[in-house]
Amino acid sequence: MMPPAFRAEGPKTHRVAHRPKRSLGQNFLHDQGTAWKIADALEACSGHRVLEIGPGRGALTCRLLESGCDLYALEKDGVLAGELKKRWPEFSVTVADALRFNWTKLDGPWRIIGNLPYNVASPIIWDLVADVPRLERGVFMVQKEVAQRLAAAPGSRSYGALSVWVQSHVQVRGLFTVGPQVFHPRPKVDSAVVRLTTLAPKERLQHSDPLRRLLPLCFQQRRKQLKTILRPLWGDHLDQWFQDQALRPESRPEELSPCRFQLLANLVFPSY
Ligand code: SAM
Repeated sequence: MMPPAFRAEGPKTHRVAHRPKRSLGQNFLHDQGTAWKIADALEACSGHRVLEIGPGRGALTCRLLESGCDLYALEKDGVLAGELKKRWPEFSVTVADALRFNWTKLDGPWRIIGNLPYNVASPIIWDLVADVPRLERGVFMVQKEVAQRLAAAPGSRSYGALSVWVQSHVQVRGLFTVGPQVFHPRPKVDSAVVRLTTLAPKERLQHSDPLRRLLPLCFQQRRKQLKTILRPLWGDHLDQWFQDQALRPESRPEELSPCRFQLLANLVFPSY
């Protein structure tokens, strides 16, 4: 059943009846304290270029505009984008799907923020950490389980392809968790806010294709040993590498750090 239509927050002159769309993950923040805490974690100020993904009814936008930064946004819902333009005519909102956005177009330093729709948060973060040329800082609210996967350490239950990929590009810090009561409509799960900071160039993954190819291979069969997963590609070079790394070929994918995954990927798929 669809949630009932209700009134959007904001100045009375711009109140609008809008029915939240479940298909777009529209759980709007109505708690100003939480919205400000998230926006302030971006530490944006005058001179910073900031992109907000999914501004919705402007809960974060409002605070970001106060900071004096140059604010842009991508919003898939054309009705909401229209309302935001009426409310803040100087604010540049593009009606676009963040899943299809060409992140490489963002030249120069950018800060990116979003209370992301649960169903598309992982692929959006996956793409932007790799493709934004200079991501100064990212602050994202996501489902708590996704936040745990983003920040997970090797060996933990949440550690997987998303952890390795994201941590190969950025440093992830979990900031705080957020309960369902601050949203309308209320989601069934807890949320959490993470902060991403780009790694120094020498620590950051340079050629992403080998790792992009190896990760699904390994984590689709995470209970298997690496020597079984990699059997069709095995050779003396892999024996030697495991020995040099003081790793057992019987190790499972979740035991390898992001750095080791990168080395292994370049060895397994050298021509990529
Ligand atoms: N930022 C607002 C807030 O905190 O209340 C809204 C957050 S709501 C969880 C997610 C927002 O992302 C909605 O406004 C929704 O329309 C928008 N959205 C959903 N899918 C999107 C996509 N693929 N690209 C861009 N925006 C999207």
